[in-house]
Amino acid sequence: KVALRGVRKSFGDVEVLRGVDLDVAPGEVTVVLGPSGSGKSTLLRTINHLEKVDGGSVSVDGVLVGYRRSGNKLYELREREILRQRTRIGFVFQNFHLFPHLTVLENITEAPVSALRRPRPAAEEAARRLLARVGLADRAEAYPRQLSGGQQQRVAIARALALEPGLLLFDEPTSALDPELVGEVLDVIRDLAAAGTTMIVVTHEIGFAREVADTVVFMDEGRIVERGTPAEVLDRPAHERTRAFLSKVL
Ligand code: ATP
Ligand code: MG
Repeated sequence: KVALRGVRKSFGDVEVLRGVDLDVAPGEVTVVLGPSGSGKSTLLRTINHLEKVDGGSVSVDGVLVGYRRSGNKLYELREREILRQRTRIGFVFQNFHLFPHLTVLENITEAPVSALRRPRPAAEEAARRLLARVGLADRAEAYPRQLSGGQQQRVAIARALALEPGLLLFDEPTSALDPELVGEVLDVIRDLAAAGTTMIVVTHEIGFAREVADTVVFMDEGRIVERGTPAEVLDRPAHERTRAFLSKVL
């Protein structure tokens, strides 16, 4: 379960998040839509404390992210504790961010072995199961540069899953892909949704949002302007800004 309350974030004089409230229930898929610069990536990054919030709070499964409360004061956690929290929150980036010098299998086992101290044989066995799940059982020994973008992104998803996170965040996971490779990545995300994975997905794939999202939120200028079921937000948007955005991307 994710709960954001009044999240604010500025870069210099520019307030990029202007009080965002968002709840995602366990097993729910929330798709975030919005124009470029509306704060979608920044919002995702606050959820695993890649960005520090200037106000408000983020909690995941009832645990405050990035801070500890003492009385009515908040203290930022130490780097180690932040890293430990991040192992509970998977993040899949637009540009895959695989380690280029490691094989597919090593990319997936690196964090379980180094951060969670899993024995390597167990981590490798789990990694091979995950590779099968994303349709790449036969590419364990390949290096990222030997894979297509769609395959690299599926490895990145397997790598995120290897930490058995309670929450998966996707920031435009298909927008760096050639059109013919988008489907294979969306299929994997769709399977995760069917398996009850809690996810927040920033994407411009409206068809995917319609089919997979429990909730769609539309962001503009650092605020959530509209929130509802796909049918509500995509077919009967209440706000002019949502309508204007949808008319451009549909
Ligand atoms: P896009 O659809 O283009 O990915 P977005 O909705 O993800 O856009 P953000 O990347 O969250 O938008 O950026 C929101 C605003 O914050 C933009 O004006 C951006 O230039 C600014 N911004 C983001 N990160 C930083 C940073 N590290 N330093 C300064 N400004 C930033
Ligand atoms: Mg972005």
